[in-house]
Amino acid sequence: MAAFLELRGVTKKFGDFTALNDVSLEIRRGEIFSLLGPSGCGKTTLLRVCAGFEQPDAGRVILDGHDITDLPPNRRRLNTIFQSYALFPHLTVRENIAFGLRVARRPAAEIKREVGQTLALMQLEEHADKRPALLSGGQKQRVAVARALINKPEILLLDEPLAALDLKLRQRMLVELDNIHDEVGITFIFVTHDQGEAMSISDRIAVMHEGRVEQIGTAAEIYEAPRTSFVAAFIGDTNFFDGQVLGPDTNPDYCQLAIEGFTDIISFNDKRLPTGQLAHLSIRPEKFRISRNPPPPDPFLNRISGTVEEIIYQGTHTNFWVRAGEYRVAVRQPHSRFKLDQEIITWKDAVWLSWHADDGCMLEQYRADDESLLSLPDPDDAHPAPGGTTGTTPPAASGRQRGIAT
Ligand code: ATP
Repeated sequence: MAAFLELRGVTKKFGDFTALNDVSLEIRRGEIFSLLGPSGCGKTTLLRVCAGFEQPDAGRVILDGHDITDLPPNRRRLNTIFQSYALFPHLTVRENIAFGLRVARRPAAEIKREVGQTLALMQLEEHADKRPALLSGGQKQRVAVARALINKPEILLLDEPLAALDLKLRQRMLVELDNIHDEVGITFIFVTHDQGEAMSISDRIAVMHEGRVEQIGTAAEIYEAPRTSFVAAFIGDTNFFDGQVLGPDTNPDYCQLAIEGFTDIISFNDKRLPTGQLAHLSIRPEKFRISRNPPPPDPFLNRISGTVEEIIYQGTHTNFWVRAGEYRVAVRQPHSRFKLDQEIITWKDAVWLSWHADDGCMLEQYRADDESLLSLPDPDDAHPAPGGTTGTTPPAASGRQRGIAT
């Protein structure tokens, strides 16, 4: 599908600091596209460049085939909704929505007609004469969107609109925002540092880090097939293993991988990394199976042995930390069956971890500091698990501490 909004090589500096570094991306008409990344990675700056509040030092912004880089914000047909909506508390819903048209000195009849249509579209008619203080969070969000829509934007830019809300309300508002998007059908660009928000609402996500776009894809693509260690560690949880390609398998889609302390590791090699190449294997905790008995023979099933160091029962699943050679491996076992009927695995048990060759993701680009995104559980959080498992904190383990956030 052709790009609707396109950024070509956009760079933005503040003094010596590069907030956006050669960013290129394409956003499709009608999609919800999220900019996701940690604080300071440049999300808001990117949004402000799209809106025209910031002028890039290099690069172009193209909207529907037209170069809008040098247009002022009011001529761009993009509207921004800021955190906490910034509604005028002393004006009614109707007056809030009409505000932009009044400032533009549009004729009274036109304002009345447009406001009436927008109130109907956003299902706000019965609230038209209320002030914002009397509205629920969802209704306020609708007013903010209505106030932006009345300017007939082609794209809505939403800058962390839910950041100030508590978790439950945020989840409700997200559903509401998705409904609004379905109703109005225009393109949404959504800025958030919350991966859960981005993953639940977006058609596609750009993961940003230090002014660059690291990966663009659907939620499933960036979770299942991260391209860099930053994406692997920032989206969800993972384990990293250092490896080297030993050579292709008999099936060329796979390769043998040397990982210190483990033997006969086979991995899907979609990037066709050559023999001798250093590679870093990222395996999500839920991709492992944990068992006391050796897993059944299968040429595509990798197996390593280890000792359980820590267990945290969490209702829907249990998190295990298993010492295997120099690695501390995070494992998540979902309780798809009645937990108390499942094999009981407890602290200090000798266990097998197994994973399918397709379930590891080989990364070429790897930065050790991305591991700082992965944190071990706070020992104080450990608590007894039912069925005989215990959440005892083990003595400090030696060697590398590669683990995950819970
Ligand atoms: P947050 O989630 O915290 O808002 P962000 O990803 O939206 O972060 P930006 O607001 O785009 O990040 O800022 C990116 C970097 O650029 C930050 O280090 C910020 O301090 C810096 N920055 C942004 N605007 C300015 C400015 N006007 N002058 C100087 N530095 C700025």
